[in-house]
Amino acid sequence: MIYLDHAATTVPRDEARHALARWLDPQLGLGNASSAHAAGRRARLAVEEAREQIAAALGASPNDVVFTSGGTEADNLAVKGLAWAAAERGRRHLVTSAVEHPAVLDSVRWLAEHDGFTLTVVPPRRDGRVDVERVLAAVRDDTAVVSIMAANNELGAVNDIATLGSALRERGVACHVDAVQAYATLHVDVSAWPVDALALSAHKFGGPGGVGVAYLRRGVPIVPLLHGGGQDRGVRSGTFAAALDAACAAAATAAATDRSALNARLIVLADRLAAGFAAVGGVRRNGPGDPAWRLASHVHVSVQGVDAEALLFGLDQAGLCVSTASACHSGANRASHVLTATGLDDLASVRASLGWTTTKEDIEAAAETFAEVVGKLRAAGGGGVR
Ligand code: PLP
Repeated sequence: MIYLDHAATTVPRDEARHALARWLDPQLGLGNASSAHAAGRRARLAVEEAREQIAAALGASPNDVVFTSGGTEADNLAVKGLAWAAAERGRRHLVTSAVEHPAVLDSVRWLAEHDGFTLTVVPPRRDGRVDVERVLAAVRDDTAVVSIMAANNELGAVNDIATLGSALRERGVACHVDAVQAYATLHVDVSAWPVDALALSAHKFGGPGGVGVAYLRRGVPIVPLLHGGGQDRGVRSGTFAAALDAACAAAATAAATDRSALNARLIVLADRLAAGFAAVGGVRRNGPGDPAWRLASHVHVSVQGVDAEALLFGLDQAGLCVSTASACHSGANRASHVLTATGLDDLASVRASLGWTTTKEDIEAAAETFAEVVGKLRAAGGGGVR
């Protein structure tokens, strides 16, 4: 099996596995981090150390770091929490882009449909990037929150968050950034990105599934989603998940330490893979052409002359794990909202995403497998050739 779907979830890092095992130890990981006794204090120490590590990796203060169950919850908390708080000051307008993850898009749509907010959805460029000027043009006096992703999960398109964040800070509008997909290879640093909220997910950078981070800048009003024991400064109730938090922090630190080297390695491997895909002919690489605005991990291509479903099946059968987003013109095959919004839904497409374990051999084998599968499908007529 060749695994090139690291954007969906990546391989757990040793540091995260060790931290998880350590805090799941029946002796060490016994206490509830909110209990006052020694076992509780020990668990609390693990949580607070994890918070400090995440803060250090993000250029943030530990007070600004809140643990969540993952990227989806962090996005929901930031978007809805900031919106509800701003609504108390009479602001009920939301701005986002059409290529956001559903954790953001469906949150703002829900607020618009059920909670009296109005919504502006900014269209992306064809390469998947979102123009800062277009976002700023959508901002109004009553805008509550602007939510724009740091990098798109399908196309790997990177946005200019530093410029957007500064402009919104000047206007006094809350800015949330979904950095779930960006963290593994992009330098995510809130001292350079003046934003109010930011979402991370551990399983995208070598931690376990089911844990994430909401960076929530202190002093920015936010209404909690979850009510309960009042943990995490009352913003996120729920018993602290000490083992998961420690593993998340260990992975975040390892990923940040390794990031520059990984980035340099993946740029070369991704280009080699794109060239391998292109060698079959009739292949278009999607996403930004300028590597400065494209995640080093992502290779997204559209393929002529094959049926999307047949391609997905063929690649999987041949042992290549990638994501396919199908062309949308028939039956149950539906293009993703990202491909529709960017106008890239004309052909079958494949997202290969590389990660910290990807090798040159993986890339060579993947290019070979892709050529074989596409060749066979084209020879067979592809069934609904486009
Ligand atoms: N945001 C983006 C950009 C993502 O790619 C994902 C996961 O695919 C999420 C949010 C959701 O994160 P999680 O899987 O931790 O809920």
